[in-house]
Amino acid sequence: MLTISSINQMIGVDIDDQHLLESNRAFFVGLKSEFMDDLDAWLVRYGYNVERVFIDGYYDFLVSGNYGQEFYLKQYAQSTHWYQLGISSVRATLILNHCRQTFFKHTQKAGMDKLGYFVSQALDIAQAMTANIYSIASMMERMEQKFRADITGIERAVQFGSVKISEDLLQAYLDHVNWKVKLFSLALGSLEDENFPYSPDECRLGKWLNAGGWDKIPHDQKQDFDQAHREVHELAGKAMQDAVAQHPESIIQSLSRMERASDRVAEVLLQLIDAEIIHSATLDGLTGLPLRKVFDEEYGQILSLARRQHLRVGLIIVDVDHFKKINDEKGHLVGDQVLKKLAELLQNSLRQEDRVYRWGGEEFAVMMLGDENFNARVLAERIRAGIEQTAFCEGTSNEMQVTVSCGTVCFDPLKTNSIDKMFSLADKQLYLAKRKGRNRVESQTLDME
Ligand code: GH3
Ligand code: MG
Ligand code: MG
Repeated sequence: MLTISSINQMIGVDIDDQHLLESNRAFFVGLKSEFMDDLDAWLVRYGYNVERVFIDGYYDFLVSGNYGQEFYLKQYAQSTHWYQLGISSVRATLILNHCRQTFFKHTQKAGMDKLGYFVSQALDIAQAMTANIYSIASMMERMEQKFRADITGIERAVQFGSVKISEDLLQAYLDHVNWKVKLFSLALGSLEDENFPYSPDECRLGKWLNAGGWDKIPHDQKQDFDQAHREVHELAGKAMQDAVAQHPESIIQSLSRMERASDRVAEVLLQLIDAEIIHSATLDGLTGLPLRKVFDEEYGQILSLARRQHLRVGLIIVDVDHFKKINDEKGHLVGDQVLKKLAELLQNSLRQEDRVYRWGGEEFAVMMLGDENFNARVLAERIRAGIEQTAFCEGTSNEMQVTVSCGTVCFDPLKTNSIDKMFSLADKQLYLAKRKGRNRVESQTLDME
């Protein structure tokens, strides 16, 4: 990105030559209407939108010879005006080139080549500034494209899986990006919005952080995240102060630094969203319980832990009695409510280290560890009795009792390797419980000798 001093150096603007332009002001004043008519005719010929292609006073600044801050600010306004009119950067360059040729034509005709040369310097500055404005614009466009791609990815994940993302996290990310887009459009437009939240505590991301969002940011990233977020706001504030203090070149620098800092912020938020997507893809959308595939991934670890610590393993399969009837009589939505409530009851009756999974449609599996006195049957019985005593859909016209049958096995993990075999034994016990009339527990204990 170019700065005023680098532009001045490249173009070799010599402020001492100002007086030459100043002393020939009358020449340019006289030329103005002819110049503008010529420009209009050229614009029409090439199909440009001719309405107000120059902002007020732009011509006078171009020929003033005073190419300091004021000129840069005017040029900033002129270049953003072109951008807002929808004039492409190539077209903007062509307009400036046409102006250059017209000035040369007239100054040569009047035998004042040197004057033409100085105005040409102003047009070089104009071109460099315009290129800067358009690079802010393309930065904004790239940012919007990336943002759209990220959002589409998130939407797909949510649509095609049982994925749930915390709304507040997603909102914090959306707010951050919207804030940035807004800032860029301010930079490319009016440069004024009294209500724009420049402070890092006032923006919605800041509010989310202060309302508990901080807890979600990984510990080792907190410091960098905080720094990047503060930097984003500092630089944004600075860009706008520069605009007001007439330092347009700094606006551009601040914005591009701000963009880098804000990428770091967005990156962390996207990581959090990704982590939630991965996490929730392994959780059942209805009950929030881990799915059977999670069991497949983690039982190996649980068994090795049990072996190391000489613990016994208990498996319980819980199956709702006559669940089909509930669906048929009360509808699937009520059936779903029952499953949700059951998941809650199961979780509440277990210790934190016990694992409960949604095993299949209306079946749940529990895996737990215990010492030699531990018996999964006792726990299964407690679960069964708890469910029997619970009113489901309480306080509604669908209020009902639900019962479950359980099959359990308890085994020593040092004496068996086959978890599949253990589950098929538990399944047999479940079948037995169903056959013996349901709403009961049947169990088998292995290798107790
Ligand atoms: P039993 O006492 O022998 O277990 O009888 P049951 O009716 O519970 O057994 P069955 O296996 O015949 O029926 C299970 C029903 O569970 C069939 C299926 O439509 C229903 N189901 C499975 N998953 C869901 C779900 O997510 N929501 C709802 N509402 N119903 C489900
Ligand atoms: Mg079943
Ligand atoms: Mg059933």
